[in-house]
Amino acid sequence: MKLYLGIDVGGTTVKGIVLTENGKSVCSGEIQTLYGEELADCIEELAERLVLNSGAVFSALAGIGVGCPGIIDSEHGTVIYAANLKLKDYPLAKLLSEKLNVPVKLCNDANAAALGEAKFGAGKGYTDSVLITLGTGVGGGIVIGGKMFEGFKSAGAEIGHMVIERDGTRCSCGRRGCFEAYCSARALTNKTRYEMEEDVSSEMWKTYTHDTADGRTAFEYMDTDRTARRIVDWYLSHLTCGVTNIANIFRPQVVMLGGGVAAQGTRLTEPLQKLVNKELFGGTEYAPVKIECATLGNKAGVYGAAALIME
Ligand SMILES: [Zn+2]
Repeated sequence: MKLYLGIDVGGTTVKGIVLTENGKSVCSGEIQTLYGEELADCIEELAERLVLNSGAVFSALAGIGVGCPGIIDSEHGTVIYAANLKLKDYPLAKLLSEKLNVPVKLCNDANAAALGEAKFGAGKGYTDSVLITLGTGVGGGIVIGGKMFEGFKSAGAEIGHMVIERDGTRCSCGRRGCFEAYCSARALTNKTRYEMEEDVSSEMWKTYTHDTADGRTAFEYMDTDRTARRIVDWYLSHLTCGVTNIANIFRPQVVMLGGGVAAQGTRLTEPLQKLVNKELFGGTEYAPVKIECATLGNKAGVYGAAALIME
């Protein structure tokens, strides 16, 4: 039985998982991230530990897939640039395959997460899916015909930096009106705090202050407080615009929502589905687009990395 090792490199920890070809987890673990040239060393240590713990030998491994933040040249397995890992032109796949004597594939971590959700999470059974993560920023990835979309030089899909309001709110990328500037958890938090200040009688003040209110606050009070309801409607209308744009361009069978805001579950997906259905090109009859919450959470990256080897 072949085994697949998936590695997800994060800013503080490197996570790993060993999967069977059906996507069953044999074992998983993590190790503290080492920056710069030493990154390959800590991945090597984690890989050896995981193979040992799974009761296998390296020759049973079909290979290792690695998802890594930053600009990745997946063709050559090189990290071109990753500021937070202090890496530039780092041939990670080559280093690992020399150390461990197995094939190694490398891709961007957001793309790996999209592939993981597509193959083993909410996108299982579909050929075309898009993952949109509504976290501190808005990110995601696209899987078409079962294959990860990487773009030129693996630049990926900056879903969060699609403009949904020309000359709108300033975004961290330098443009104005990006999806991220309206639909990240940070944007929702900022909107909530602003609207609370504007309405001193809001029920949200009962349990929150300006500083403790966050992206969950308005959802918590949406059934009893008008201002909270207005904030949720504001958020949903912008989310509808971004999701519908993506759905119209790629026409996936499913759009999966991940990240902190997606923890709202059906409180988010049910109204969003109705709103997107109204705006979807050609309506929902010939090619409906389902909206679901992602199911793998922060494990999507390791699953997707392992799936890189299964392709
Ligand atoms: Zn932007």
